[in-house]
Amino acid sequence: MIPRQEELIVSSTDLVDPCGEDSDTPVPGLVHRYPDRVLLLALDSCAAYCRYCTRSRLVSQGEMHPVTRRLDAIIAYLEEHTEVRDVLISGGDPLLMSDEPLDNLLRRLRGIPHLEFIRIGSRVPSFLPQRITPELVVLLRKHRVWLSLHFCHVRELTPEVAQACDRLADGGIPLGSQTVLLKGVNDSEEALKNLFHGLLKLRVRPYYLYQCDPVVGTAHLRTSVQTGIDLISKLRGHTTGYAVPTYVIDAPGGGGKVPIQAETLVAYENGTATVRNWAGKTYTYADPVEAI
Ligand code: SF4
Repeated sequence: MIPRQEELIVSSTDLVDPCGEDSDTPVPGLVHRYPDRVLLLALDSCAAYCRYCTRSRLVSQGEMHPVTRRLDAIIAYLEEHTEVRDVLISGGDPLLMSDEPLDNLLRRLRGIPHLEFIRIGSRVPSFLPQRITPELVVLLRKHRVWLSLHFCHVRELTPEVAQACDRLADGGIPLGSQTVLLKGVNDSEEALKNLFHGLLKLRVRPYYLYQCDPVVGTAHLRTSVQTGIDLISKLRGHTTGYAVPTYVIDAPGGGGKVPIQAETLVAYENGTATVRNWAGKTYTYADPVEAI
């Protein structure tokens, strides 16, 4: 969270809009890239500011109106696009909205019959756990919202954060967590294992480990992809499957999330798959004879 001098160094691979979202924005504050999913940017402020933020071009820049002032256009677009079934509300941090406008936003979205799945991406449970009030939990449950949380180190799992996660889990809110792989912060087997085990204890499922996006001024925080592959290989098969997120690169230029892992399918010929397990041993699996 603390700015460092290295942020002033712009490397040749850095990008202002690393995930290419701006080119997929049909109405202000709505990113529609995949046919059935949209990203709704709620507001441009957060409870604290991650130095590696993919949306640092928007977040805290004071150039985006809060969703309450853009809502009619967003709702009209979504009503028209019946192929959209999944909305991720992110930002900025949507849980910085107070209960009433948040309730209104969720109610308007829930009023669109083809929207099946509504998620909120939030770092508030880690940065501002006191925002997770009993009233907020009731509101989220009423609208059947899933929460995508964001944690990068086990030290973020304080007693207050544990209480907030407990409150959400007890309230029936499904909880997943995303982590960004950061050089010098969590790029070790021990740091990742401690974090993922700690999250499971709080009933939060780690589901993505992101290769750090090439955001301007973040070269000092990025590891190589090989580091990520080595780390995930040390986890997969070596600990509870629920504690191992999918390691992904969000392909620069708008390619979306691409899962990365060490080669486990060694060969697949004549209906026989040769696979390598967590200990490096190979085994074969034969397709049913009729399928060959
Ligand atoms: S909380 Fe999310 S949106 Fe806000 S600065 Fe961090 S990564 Fe960016």
